[in-house]
Amino acid sequence: MKILVIGDFHGKFPKKLKEKAKEADFILCTGDFGGSKKLLKIIFKYLGEKWWEIVGLKKAREYILEDYNSGVKILKQLDKLNKPIYIVAGNWDFITKSKLERTAGLNLVNYPTIIRNSKNLKYWKRGIRKVYGINILAFGNQVTAGDYVDKKGFYKNKPKKLLKHIKDNKKEIEQIMKHGRKDVDILFAHYPPYGYFDVVRYKGENPMNGKHVGFKGYTKYIKKYQPRLFISGHMHEYQGLKKLGKTDMIATGAALNGQAVIIEIDDKKKIKIKFIK
Ligand SMILES: [Zn+2]
Repeated sequence: MKILVIGDFHGKFPKKLKEKAKEADFILCTGDFGGSKKLLKIIFKYLGEKWWEIVGLKKAREYILEDYNSGVKILKQLDKLNKPIYIVAGNWDFITKSKLERTAGLNLVNYPTIIRNSKNLKYWKRGIRKVYGINILAFGNQVTAGDYVDKKGFYKNKPKKLLKHIKDNKKEIEQIMKHGRKDVDILFAHYPPYGYFDVVRYKGENPMNGKHVGFKGYTKYIKKYQPRLFISGHMHEYQGLKKLGKTDMIATGAALNGQAVIIEIDDKKKIKIKFIK
């Protein structure tokens, strides 16, 4: 059985990856569908500030629509592959209407709704399912990044924000540990585990450069329950495999750059991993 693992499209779905999808029995998709370079630049420039007020609502909506529509296009292309596709959302995906920083007040149909209304796409926020005989625990969507909860880190000068992040982080860690089981084959996420594939090495201006943005809950879960595989996206700068005990942790790479992973599992549950570069 073959699984294609793919994510971080940010508006681009190279043809060679669509071809690879034909080999797969099903697809695990780590999220981040749309993108707008202009918007990204602005968000990084004004990180933590009300960027939509700084640039003005008109411009903000224009950039957001460009981003939103490019993601919808990718979702449609995925649906057309005619394979079962399980999706966890990334931090860049439109999952809620309430966040002004993502919608600038536009009334957009969120991606989970689009996914649920499609033929082959399956939205999977969090929880364990058996897919083709394999136990998969999804724990997707945005989680609190490592440096946000470090007292010496990114929000050290914003004590209120820091406190909120610490609280959220604690809650999220409790949530994932509630799914503790020794028979999980794949832990499936958008963010990397704290300490692995998680130091930002962005080529360009990004206040997070050099900082850890992994989630401590994943590292804790992996250490304790040792799933056979951990899969994550989010970090375009990494593709590869690292071991933590018996767990093989995989950084998927970005579809945007032509990267993805094929996982082959035979009848004896032996696993082979192939990186598409
Ligand atoms: Zn991301």
